[in-house]
Amino acid sequence: MNKLTITVTGGTGYIASWIVSDLLREGHRVRITVRDKSNKEKYQHLLDIENKTDGSLDIYEADLLALGSFDKAIAGAEYVMHTASPFFLDDGGDAQKNLVDPAVKGTQNVLDSVHRSGTVKRVVLTSSVAAIYGDSRELKEQGISALDETMWNQSSSLSRNAYSYSKTEAEKAAWEIVKKQDQWELVTINPGFVLGPSLTKRIDSTSISTLLRILRGEIKSGAPDLGFVFSDVRDISRGHILAAFTPEAKGRYIIAHESGNLLTLAKIIEASKPGQYKVPRGLVPKWLLWLLAPSLGFSRQFVRDNVGFSVSVDNSKSLRDLKMEYTPLEKTVMDQVEQLKKDQLI
Ligand code: NAP
Repeated sequence: MNKLTITVTGGTGYIASWIVSDLLREGHRVRITVRDKSNKEKYQHLLDIENKTDGSLDIYEADLLALGSFDKAIAGAEYVMHTASPFFLDDGGDAQKNLVDPAVKGTQNVLDSVHRSGTVKRVVLTSSVAAIYGDSRELKEQGISALDETMWNQSSSLSRNAYSYSKTEAEKAAWEIVKKQDQWELVTINPGFVLGPSLTKRIDSTSISTLLRILRGEIKSGAPDLGFVFSDVRDISRGHILAAFTPEAKGRYIIAHESGNLLTLAKIIEASKPGQYKVPRGLVPKWLLWLLAPSLGFSRQFVRDNVGFSVSVDNSKSLRDLKMEYTPLEKTVMDQVEQLKKDQLI
């Protein structure tokens, strides 16, 4: 493949690091944005990968809320992968400021830079299944058996599942912006809950801290029966790259394949490493979670509408258009366990 210039926003993140690594291994010219370029520790792992590949890496400083700050990183690029967005479930008491503004205004800001560049052909936006549905209970009530790309989250708001709201509003804004021009195309990747080995030792990502909590015995008395669709971080990276470079790719792509809850993950760990970790053996009763919800940092409404409901996914569009191949969940989880062990985090 020709050497292409690709900008990855939020390039040091858990997902983005894999995208950058895969692009470097394919020999491309990769540009990443970080908020603080002086914090070299955050992107040293990517410089190390660059040294072992034919690709090249350039680091730019940009902030989602600083207008025009992505201009330099994007000018001259052919593709942009916009992954940067706050990913945490606790809104810190101000969902608008901490989640929605960076996600929505940040997406507008990045797409303005894309437009000004005149060189970008396609943007791949990292959205989420959070933009596809709100609470799992709605799916059951509406008789929906599997999530697909035609669905939109209709119920999340600033005060209800604010992270999901931020992802929904950001993706909607992107589709509105792309409609107004014909210079560049937009494709979105909508991952489920992403797991799998991290390229760094950081543990502040929700994807990493969740598995750590299970492995460190923090929920050994019982797992909440929260339904997820799971994605492998390496599949998500592949999905972004296929979405960028497959000319026929169009619209939204759910990249996820297996369903379950946190007990599903615990059972995989126990089956592979019997007795090694204090993983939960059962589920916490819903009534107990409802009672404890405020002290655990989530609302009783969240427990009512999400605990005890399963979610599944129709990923046929990704199989058909992108020829996606999915990593089995057992491999995803155990590769992450091995990485956490190697990095002495468990
Ligand atoms: P992550 O490791 O926390 O990465 C998020 C990135 O966003 C960081 O690199 C951070 O950049 C950047 N960022 C946050 N606020 C910013 C701001 N104000 N200005 C500039 N950059 C900012 O999270 P991740 O799990 O890789 O998530 C990446 C994307 O995937 C997000 O859009 C998330 O919503 C989406 N997603 C994640 C999952 C999942 O399970 N992990 C599932 C579905 C969708 P700095 O390096 O500068 O801090």
